[in-house]
Formats: sequence, structure tokens, C-alpha cells
Amino acid sequence: MGAKMKIYNTLTKKKEEFIPIEEGKVRMYVCGPTVYNYIHIGNARPIIVFDTVRRYLEYKGYEVNFVSNFTDVDDKIIKKANDEGVSATEISERFIDEYRKDQEGLNVKPATTNPKATEEIDGMIEMIDALIKKGHAYEKNGTVYFRTRSFKDYGKLSKKNIDDLEAGIRIAVSDEKEDPLDFVLWKPKKEGEPYWTSPWSDGRPGWHIECSVMSKKYLGEQIDIHAGGEDLVFPHHENEIAQSEACNGKEFAKYWMHNAFLNIDNKKMSKSEGNFFTVRDISEQYPLQILRFFMLSSHYRSPLNFSRELMEASKNGLERILTATYNLEHLLESAESKELTEEEKNILTEAESLNSKFDMAMDDDFNTADAIAAIFEIVKAANSKITSSNSKELIQKVLDKILKLSDILGLQVKKKEELLDDEIEQLIQDRQNARKGKDFAKADEIRNLLLEKGIILEDTREGVRWKRA
Ligand code: AMP
Ligand code: ZN
Repeated sequence: MGAKMKIYNTLTKKKEEFIPIEEGKVRMYVCGPTVYNYIHIGNARPIIVFDTVRRYLEYKGYEVNFVSNFTDVDDKIIKKANDEGVSATEISERFIDEYRKDQEGLNVKPATTNPKATEEIDGMIEMIDALIKKGHAYEKNGTVYFRTRSFKDYGKLSKKNIDDLEAGIRIAVSDEKEDPLDFVLWKPKKEGEPYWTSPWSDGRPGWHIECSVMSKKYLGEQIDIHAGGEDLVFPHHENEIAQSEACNGKEFAKYWMHNAFLNIDNKKMSKSEGNFFTVRDISEQYPLQILRFFMLSSHYRSPLNFSRELMEASKNGLERILTATYNLEHLLESAESKELTEEEKNILTEAESLNSKFDMAMDDDFNTADAIAAIFEIVKAANSKITSSNSKELIQKVLDKILKLSDILGLQVKKKEELLDDEIEQLIQDRQNARKGKDFAKADEIRNLLLEKGIILEDTREGVRWKRA
């Protein structure tokens, strides 16, 4: 497995050596999105960060079982469905499809399994039942609550003291709970809501129980890594630990990883402030590879500020790597096979040592910023030292190195075939025709194809304008 890796564990607040439960294998669960809208660029941070963690673990030789759920039943989904007069499933399926498009644009590998909450209700009923039987949960008027104080380690992840928590809660007069700290595992349906039959009521599960159940079903009772954004530490992950450990009697996850938040122009992203961007919004202005590069240019545990200037800097950074690979490919066309000179051997040694620098950065709790810096150093060496008179072998090896390390970060740095102006004009014409014929799917497809090739369209009153990204 190569050198030792360190991961910062929220549970111990320390960087710890990574030792998986089963040698050579990693069981990893990342809390996924609630699918009621397009994902915003804040949501994209954990998606990109934990995909990069997975890619690096695979590069280190681990077989990674990567599970990420879709929360497809929830108040927001139901509200949107009622507003639009369609079923909740129609909303969730629509936004799962849209999620997959963003995922592809961001070059995020598909999960091993993407379970949906609505397809796992039986398992949830089973776990709730087991918790009741063990005395960790109780039913009141069709609602099932987790008996929080029955789990003695409650608060161990978020470092909260249970008595302090209790003191901070306002007690509702009508509260039917035994204790204000108790949280919902199952709740009865309200008018117009989707529901499932259970021993307690026709209703639906609480949010926290789904991850405990899906993680157990697809990865087993104990997993290596559980991850998500830092806002999930409390109460979501704390409650997941309580449910899983109370039910299974074993430590749930060994390493808890959390990314810090993304802000916009140093402010919290919020719809009401008007500083809210979906990944889809950004894709109209930049290829999504640039968003990925931007997210990885700082450490995942540092707050990250999104701004146009930083996106432009990311665009330049990615372009530098792209240009280098393009040039090397070009040099390869005329290069000859010959034995390596001493100088060429030195260049390869330098590339190898920069590869080690990359590995060391990533081994240190996934320091992607330093890893990118190592790629830049290889690019710099290639730009300054490699010419058409070098051997084919050297050029190929340096090119492969840049591609390989970029791929570990999920960055696609091969220059795509450029479209000629005439071809672009023709595609724009085809798109206009598709729109006239109300074939909007085709029109979108053409727009995305152009975007992939770095062509940005702008619909203006005078017609369609385009520019190269
Ligand atoms: P949600 O759909 O709100 O449950 O969020 C899905 C994932 O995105 C969770 O892991 C959140 O922690 C994460 N997330 C939400 N907003 C942000 C943000 N502004 N920056 C970073 N991560 C976020
Ligand atoms: Zn979760």
C-alpha cells in the first residue's frame, strides 16, 4: 500500500494513520444530497473532495466500496411537488437525473451504490424495531423517538455535553417526548404526504435513520470512512452514531471526515442575499473542470471563498497544465526513439521526485493544494527542459506523469480537439432549428456539446453570440 496515510478524524480531532478494517479494502459512506433542486456550488465541495479521496485511495491500491445516498423523501421535496402539482417521486427523479449530469461534468466517478431512501424503508422499519426492543426508542401517538440519554456516548463526535445540550433546548408545552433531546425515527403522515405502512403509523422515516440503515446494508456494521460537510457533524452524524451503535453494539465508523464550507465573496451563500449559484449556473460560464480545480486548490478543511477572480485564476492554472500536455503531445509526433541521455535521465528522476512530493502532500490528510503545486513543478520542468530533439520515451513518460497525477485529482487535462469556427456556426444553427421545432432536449444537447469543447453561448436580442472559454 506504499507509504502511510494520515487522515484528520473529527472524532479524535487528530490526524491519524489510516488503517482500514480489512486489509486492502475501504468502506466509505458519504451523505448525499436531498434531491429537490439543482445542486449548488456548496454541495459540489463534498462531492469533489470525497471523490478525490476515493481516487487517491484507489491509486494507493485500495479497493474502495463507495456508497452515497439520495434523500428522496423530505419536506422540501414534498413542498415542491405540491407547488408543481406533481408527485414527490417525479421531483426526486428529475433532480437525480440533473445531479448525474453535474456529476459527469465535474468528472466525479459514479458511486459503487447510490441507494435511495424510499427504496430502503423496510430496512429502516427493521432498525427502528430493533431499537425499540433494545430500549433505545419508544412510540408515542404513532411517532417513534430515539431515547437520546439511553446512548451513553451521545455527543462524542461533536464534543457536546448532553447536559449543556439539554439546557439549551426550549421545551414545547405540547411536547410528547420523554426528553427534549429525543429525536424522531418515524413520524405519521400529514395530509397530502407520501407514506408507508409501519407497525406504528402510516408515515415516513426521520432523516437520520436512512444513513444508518443504508450504510449497514451496503457496507456492513462497521465502516472505515464516513464523510460529509461540517454542518452535518451535529445533529445528523451524532444521531447516526447513536442509532447505529445502539443497534449494532459496535463502533460505527473509524474515521469521520468533514469539509469546511464554501462562501461567496466572503459571505454565507444564501438565496435571499442573491449570492447563490448552482453548479448548472457556473457551467454556463466555465467548463466544470475549472470549478473542480478551484475546489481542490485549497485544503478541504479550510473555508473556501468563491469569487470571479479566483475562478479566473483557476482557469489560468488549469490552462497551464492543458497547454503543457498539448505541447508534449505535439512534440511526440516528430520525436524519435533513442536511448536516454544523462540529462534526460535527470529529468525523469526529477519527475519521479515530484511524484513523491505529490504523494506526500496527499498522504498528509489530502493536501490537494500542495499536490497541485507538485504537478505545476513537473509542468514547469517540461516547458523549460523538453524540446523536439528529446527522445520519444522521455516525452511520453513526462506526459504520462502529468496525466496520471491530474487524473488522481479527477482533472481532465488533455486538450480536447478544437472546433473550427465554421463547425461552431453550424452547430449553433442546428440548435436554433431544434429550438424552433421545440426539440429542447436536442437544443440542450448541442449547447452542452459546445460547452464541453469550451464554447460559451449567449442568447442576445440580436441572436446567438459565442466565445471560446
Ligand atoms: P444538503 O443537500 O443541504 O443536505 O447538503 C448536501 C451536502 O452539501 C452536505 O454534505 C452539506 O454539508 C454540504 N454543503 C451544503 N452547503 C455547503 C457549503 N456552502 N459549503 C460546503 N458544503 C456544503
Ligand atoms: Zn447521512
